[in-house]
Amino acid sequence: MTGAGGNIGLATALRLAEMGTDIALLDMNPEALAKAEAAVREKGVKAESYVCDVTSETSVNDVVSQVVADFGKIDFLFNNAGYQGAFAPVQDYPAEDFPKVLNINVTGAFHVLKAVSRHMIANGFGRIVNTASMAGVKGPPNMAAYGASKGAIIALTETAALDLAPYNIRVNAISPGYMGPGFMWDRQVELQAKANTQYFSTNPEEVSKQMIGSVPMRRYGDINEIPGVVAFLLGDDSSFMTGVNLEISGG
Ligand code: NAD
Repeated sequence: MTGAGGNIGLATALRLAEMGTDIALLDMNPEALAKAEAAVREKGVKAESYVCDVTSETSVNDVVSQVVADFGKIDFLFNNAGYQGAFAPVQDYPAEDFPKVLNINVTGAFHVLKAVSRHMIANGFGRIVNTASMAGVKGPPNMAAYGASKGAIIALTETAALDLAPYNIRVNAISPGYMGPGFMWDRQVELQAKANTQYFSTNPEEVSKQMIGSVPMRRYGDINEIPGVVAFLLGDDSSFMTGVNLEISGG
């Protein structure tokens, strides 16, 4: 699992551990990884953490080989590391941030998908879930790089599902919408307010209301509403599903 030190990664690792799954935790943040490793081990499964920058193909290949050496095989991949990037209208979007977001969210996810799928092909079994976003289903204002990157993840999922279907490997995606409360929610509310466009108020509290008002279920999602969907896509209950993107967005 990548992005294992983050909110969605850790919540999902804990859920999978409760189901008895041994987990290799990958993230570029060593402190977050150490905390995640301790929390997952408390569930009584094997957990090892690996500092890995997904933007480096060498780093990914080395770590994936190490995971296979440590665990014997990889059956499941939650390809989840990501970065939200800047908030600005496309005409003002910082040029240096665009490739950074694409590099982490798309090229990074590709490196992991490639390395792990080669191992899964040799093994004759694999279940993969990529984390996209509702920002990739319908591009939000002020998030040119993030929206483009998550749209790419949905397309990458579809292509990988076709390429890997002959090898008993299923590849699906999840697209969380507005999730809160916490850092990601506060950051996007504040930065959408600062972006000062016709789509959102310049007052963060008002932006919060506007965002929630756009959700049919009239609330943001809880992080803990994600892991069950990942577990479903990794498990046998979704045995005839590949190449789909499940929206976790309140409608
Ligand atoms: P988070 O910031 O808590 O976690 C992201 C993790 O990815 C962090 O631990 C970070 O260290 C790691 N990471 C970033 N760059 C990396 C790199 N180059 N190599 C390895 N690890 C790297 O955020 P989260 O909410 O847990 O996000 C997880 C995924 O869900 C991301 O792909 C994000 O885009 C997506 N997502 C989140 C939301 C949301 O509202 N939280 C909504 C839709 C999609």
